[in-house]
Amino acid sequence: MVNKLEKSAAAFEKAKKIMPGGVNSPVRSYQNVDCTPPFISHAKGSKISDIDGNEYIDFVGSWGPAILGHAHPQVVEALQKAVERGTSFGAPTELETELAELVQKFYPTMQVMRMVNSGIEATMSALRLARGFTGRDKIVKFEGCYHGHSDSLLVGAGSGAATFGEPTSPGVTLGTSQDTIVLQYNDIKSVEKIFAEYGSEIAAVIVEPVAGNMGLVPSKKNFLPKLREVTEKSNALLIFDEVMCGFRVAKGGVQEKYNVKPDITCLGKVIGGGLPCAAYGGREDIMRNVSPDGKIYQAGTLSGNPLAMTAGVETLKILLKDESYIDKLTKKTSKLIEGLKIKAELANVDVQIQQAGSMFSIFFNTKKVSNYIDAKSSDQNKFKRWFIAMLERGIYLPPSQYETIFVSLAHTDEDFAKTLDAAESAFFV
Ligand SMILES: *Cc1c(COP(=O)(O)O)cnc(C)c1O
Repeated sequence: MVNKLEKSAAAFEKAKKIMPGGVNSPVRSYQNVDCTPPFISHAKGSKISDIDGNEYIDFVGSWGPAILGHAHPQVVEALQKAVERGTSFGAPTELETELAELVQKFYPTMQVMRMVNSGIEATMSALRLARGFTGRDKIVKFEGCYHGHSDSLLVGAGSGAATFGEPTSPGVTLGTSQDTIVLQYNDIKSVEKIFAEYGSEIAAVIVEPVAGNMGLVPSKKNFLPKLREVTEKSNALLIFDEVMCGFRVAKGGVQEKYNVKPDITCLGKVIGGGLPCAAYGGREDIMRNVSPDGKIYQAGTLSGNPLAMTAGVETLKILLKDESYIDKLTKKTSKLIEGLKIKAELANVDVQIQQAGSMFSIFFNTKKVSNYIDAKSSDQNKFKRWFIAMLERGIYLPPSQYETIFVSLAHTDEDFAKTLDAAESAFFV
């Protein structure tokens, strides 16, 4: 049971003096839940500990990467050896090819790929490539899908019947936002309509094939096949952003599960095994346009650095070896969800728990959520009370119902029993 966050509160005050919100990524500041974020000292397996000495069962997993749990012995050992050999060379190493070949075993559609340092770099570079390759400017994205914070993608649906997006952040120019068309997730009719009008100007559609950034929202059965059909007909590219859902829904990604081949895939989170690493890749005829094979520029001082490559290689090797890891994770996750549903019912709380593989989220909502508008109709206050009650009971969850909860291979039946115990009383708060 968590009783104090005194040291975290002091550390937070100190951090706030020198960093916006005291953090290096906004969600960590816990602004939505009005509570002090625990400052972390260490994590191992399914547990994470703060500087006040509280230990939690971790369902954030660094926002996705920790699919093996934290500090997996095989990954740690390989990293220790790698550190001794030097942390960055800015020159080619065999490790980069090794990781790329491993990635391709999971994602055969990534015929040629480039390693970068973060998910946003992957999506931003994929869009530049799509624009350069097609010679077109406009892109289509879906409201509630997050692809990183590059200007073209920090765009939301315009008001009313407006076709073109509006900046969701000051600093994004109107000119940039007007090349981004924002539609509702799972609404293929609106995609067909936009393509009928602007098809010849659209470079690409970018989509989270399973959305995880408005809470977990799976795509409807025909959504992805139809997106493929519509883009192909207009010679626009289809970009799957599997930065979050990659390696977590099916062994070959969501593209395997739905049998839809995108032109470009973006990966991140899991492929770095907890170190900064991401990748974009796809059809060879497209990827050969990336510099220095082609003219479309993209580079990175630390891209493919040996530590990130090592953590990625070890993580993917462990996953590749276990033929049934996805089934195991999915079953574990479903079992936890069944338990949570029962606890919510006992407390008479309306929740929608939506799952894809080892990812799920809990919407405090009476109706199923299939797009951003649905998600936003969820009860924020109820979530907040539940979240804080869970934290106090030693369960570390994302501080927003519009984020995804991650289950790892390190979670045990005992972890789940404790989580359900906590949930039972927390739903009554
Ligand atoms: C996290 C995420 C990104 C951005 O990745 P960063 O490594 O945070 O830059 C992009 N797309 C999706 C779907 C994500 O979940």
